[in-house]
This record gives sequence, structure tokens and C-alpha cells, in this order.
Amino acid sequence: MTAVVIDGREVARASRARTAQRAQAFKDQHGHAPGLATILIGNDPASEVYVRNKRRLATEAGLVDVHHHLSADVAEETVAQLIDDLNADVNVSGILLQLPLPKGLDRAGLIDRISPAKDVDGLTTVSQGRLARGVSGLRPCTPAGVIELLDTAGVAIEGAHAVVVGRSELVGHPAAELLLRRSATVTIAHSRTSDLAAVASTADILVAAAGIPALIGRDHVKPGAAVVDVGIHRTDSGLIGDVRFDEVSDVAGWITPVPGGVGPMTIAALLSNTVTAAESLTR
Ligand code: NAD
Repeated sequence: MTAVVIDGREVARASRARTAQRAQAFKDQHGHAPGLATILIGNDPASEVYVRNKRRLATEAGLVDVHHHLSADVAEETVAQLIDDLNADVNVSGILLQLPLPKGLDRAGLIDRISPAKDVDGLTTVSQGRLARGVSGLRPCTPAGVIELLDTAGVAIEGAHAVVVGRSELVGHPAAELLLRRSATVTIAHSRTSDLAAVASTADILVAAAGIPALIGRDHVKPGAAVVDVGIHRTDSGLIGDVRFDEVSDVAGWITPVPGGVGPMTIAALLSNTVTAAESLTR
């Protein structure tokens, strides 16, 4: 193996420790800690685990945990009213609507109901517009985590050719925007890209976010490249990513593992965004 393995658990732990210090400083100044409201709708087991972890780590970082669990057949107006109430609640700094939503609920409409000032997932139209314009705002958590991993590992972003595999609203597109803002030369590959290996193998930084298990192999990677694996897939032998780790770690310069790479960073970025939102709301 030639690649340096980037330890996302460790980077995330350090990030959460910084967030905890900021949360304490906020509490000292304002008399209450920043609050993170989570809204979980339905009983999707994976979503339940994600939300439980977010709440646990939020509490550990000293944030106030505000949780609402609604049934899958909840009326859309009820969810909208809850979001309005949380928007108005001075003890709530961040609002997270756990995705995916049960069928029948208007995902885009409900996300955009969240006040951009409390949009700690960075998914509202306003937050995404701010990202595209390069003005300050809350950034999507997983892409923000990708950048933090690269920075911590000492990977040069400016001037590098970054290829992002995937163009979703949640991961691929905002990751490409963040890399562009950091002056990388960015290519976005997607399901219609005709020769993925030809495109990906020109990357100095390769972000794999296609959601296809083991899509990226040796042929997709330029020797010495930094490979960030966003994919998460449950298999009988455990979690795997979009990248064939054993194969690619013989070629890459840096690689993130699954589990223990990007996953922990997503929650760390969420907690950091919550304190940032609290600071901005009281400024
Ligand atoms: P998505 O399905 O919304 O988007 C996948 C994207 O990949 C699409 O833009 C599609 O065009 C592209 N794609 C599909 N097949 C491709 C192919 N063969 N070649 C090139 N591009 C292809 O998924 P998403 O929400 O962006 O998530 C992507 C992956 O990241 C999933 O495995 C998901 O579980 C994981 N994820 C991880 C975290 C984390 O915290 N680590 C957070 C969010 C998502």
C-alpha cells in the first residue's frame, strides 16, 4: 500500500472538540447553549440510526437536543407548522430535516421552509445559491467534511484537478462548488459520463460520490492522487464505499476508508454549522 489513509474518525473528533469549545463560549456569553432540532419522519431504520448518532454527538458537544419524531403518515401542514415554530424558537439555532422523507411529502418545499439562518444541512435554495455565488452561508455537511479531510491531510486544493463523481444536490454538486471556491479545476462526472475511467484517472483529487459499491478501481486513479470515498453501502461483510480500497490504496497518494472516513465528518460539520448558525443569529 502506498497511500496515506486519512483517519476521518480522528479528524472528526478534533472538529467536535473545537465545536464543543465554541458552544461553551456561546453559552458563557448568552446563558444558553446553541440548540439543534432534529425532525425524523417515519421509521426508516437507517435514518433512525443517523438521527440517534447526530443527537448523541450534539449532546456530547454541549448543544441542546430538540427532537421531534413524527409518524410516516403525518400531514404536510403539520410538518410545515413544526418547521415554522422551530424557525421562531430562539433556543433553536439549527434545524435538520432527516432525509429521505416518506412518499407523499414535498421534500423541496419542506426544506425551503427552513429559515436559511438555521439551515444547518445547507440544502435550502438560498443556502445553495449562496454557495454558488461564493458568499457566506451554511454549507452542506458531507461536502464540507470532504474539504476538511483534504485540508487536514495537507492535500493542495488550489490549482489541482478535482474530479467529483456524482452530481447530486446533497453531495456531488456542492462538493464540486466548494472545490471550485478553493480554486481547484473541477470536473463533474455522472451517470451519463461516457468513459469514467478516462476522466477520473486525470484527477489529482478524486471524490467518489456515485452511490455505486466498488465503482472506482485502480484504472480510475492517477498515481499519487487523493481519493475521497463518500459512498456508504451495507453488505453482508460490513460497510463498503464506492472505492475498491485494497486496489486503490496501492496507487493513490491519500485515501479515505469506509467506514471511518467521510461518514464521521458529516456529523462533525453539522455540529459546527449549528454553532456557526447560533453565532450568526445573535450577531
Ligand atoms: P444520489 O443517488 O443522489 O446521486 C448519485 C450521483 O452519482 C448521481 O448524480 C449520478 O449521476 C451519479 N452516478 C450514478 N451512477 C454513476 C456512474 N456509474 N458513474 C458516474 N456517476 C454515477 O446519491 P447521493 O445522495 O449523492 O449519495 C452518494 C453516496 O454517498 C451514497 O452511497 C450515499 O449513501 C453516500 N452518502 C454518504 C454520506 C456520508 O456521510 N458519508 C452522506 C450522504 C451520502
